[in-house]
Amino acid sequence: MPAFPTAAPATSTWQSEAACRELPTELFFPVGHGPRAQAQARRAKDICGSCRVRPDCLGYAMAANMQYGVFGGLAEDERRELRRRSRAGYGGGGGPLEESA
Ligand code: SF4
Repeated sequence: MPAFPTAAPATSTWQSEAACRELPTELFFPVGHGPRAQAQARRAKDICGSCRVRPDCLGYAMAANMQYGVFGGLAEDERRELRRRSRAGYGGGGGPLEESA
């Protein structure tokens, strides 16, 4: 499972349905914040956009507090913002965290 090189539980069945399962792991881990990294992140997010297990992936990344990479269509800074909003009570119903629960 390329997008989950170290922390995904081996028993996760949702990973077998991941749109990224046969793609290079590096694609989901842009380095830096320059134009090249931003383009890479956009490409990864595009793939996530068509992934049927996106809520599971995002829920996993949030629960595991993944500090790097694109998971569930969100980069690390976007997941931090989602976490901050959720803690502040702005998450609203039906968001990605709720969908993956
Ligand atoms: S949401 Fe993105 S990173 Fe997560 S499994 Fe799907 S394609 Fe991979």
